[in-house]
Amino acid sequence: MFKLIEGKAIAQSIRAEIREKVAAFKAETGNEIGLAVVLVGENPASQIYVRNKIKACEEVGIKSYAYYLPEAVTQNGLEELLSSLAQNDEIQGILVQLPLPTHLSDKALKLIPDGKDVDGFSENNIGRLCLNLPATVACTPYGVMKMLEYEHIEIRGKNAVVVGRSNIVGKPMAMLLMNADATVTVCHSKTKNLKEQCLKADILVSAIGKPKFITSDMIKEGATVIDVGMNRDENGKLCGDVDFERVKEKCSYITPVPGGVGPMTITMLMYNTYLAALRSKN
Ligand code: NAP
Repeated sequence: MFKLIEGKAIAQSIRAEIREKVAAFKAETGNEIGLAVVLVGENPASQIYVRNKIKACEEVGIKSYAYYLPEAVTQNGLEELLSSLAQNDEIQGILVQLPLPTHLSDKALKLIPDGKDVDGFSENNIGRLCLNLPATVACTPYGVMKMLEYEHIEIRGKNAVVVGRSNIVGKPMAMLLMNADATVTVCHSKTKNLKEQCLKADILVSAIGKPKFITSDMIKEGATVIDVGMNRDENGKLCGDVDFERVKEKCSYITPVPGGVGPMTITMLMYNTYLAALRSKN
């Protein structure tokens, strides 16, 4: 019998804790905590993500500053905004919604100081994570670790398989699991025998972006399955990377999509912003 890891409920409970911490911070310092959210262009998915992030800020008492730049903004235009936000003392966190339009380079993100990099994407933050030093951790993998912690799922000594090696999900996920003493295998599009690799997993994290790609024959009996994927199935319905209905029968724990990892990601963004404010105070 499997247990559903209800990310939505866990996220709500963490958000309530963050709301209290933010209120205490404001009472103690007399200052707001500010998060700048920068959106370039009109990508509909990005607009939804940005709206949800602003809503989450309201929920926990963080002041959001939204900057909507036109699709045609130049590299210079974007960089000028980021430089001014970097200097602005009212803003403790800066988030640029990705992907940027193709004419813009991600190099602009280097203008975000490490202390305000609440997405945990900077070279320094990623490097510190690899060295197992205190770092701002990318929100999605951080959220996955919180879910495992909430469910008291043991990581130490377990075989963890991460499918996907992107800089924002797969790689930091693998690092976090390794830092937590799992034996980690990272798979990607060139991996041979993906099924055999997955079958070794006590903890399987899928971050590929392919609907229902992880099938039940790839799952070890009793595994914990974390589905990061956010895809549309053939009927346009939101689904993960995992063939949930069949895979769940073999698992001990499994996350749903929607209502799994997604709500945790935004919650950890709020937490990272709170931590950034604490650091800037100290
Ligand atoms: P990405 O940058 O496109 O990376 C996808 C990874 O999957 C790559 O490493 C790729 O391998 C690997 N891959 C692709 N096809 C594969 C295959 N057939 N077998 C094995 N590996 C394969 O994507 P991402 O940004 O990491 O996101 C992954 C998924 O998570 C997407 O569905 C995205 O929407 C979702 N996501 C969800 C959240 C959330 O909050 N829930 C947050 C972020 C992302 P190569 O490196 O070899 O190309």
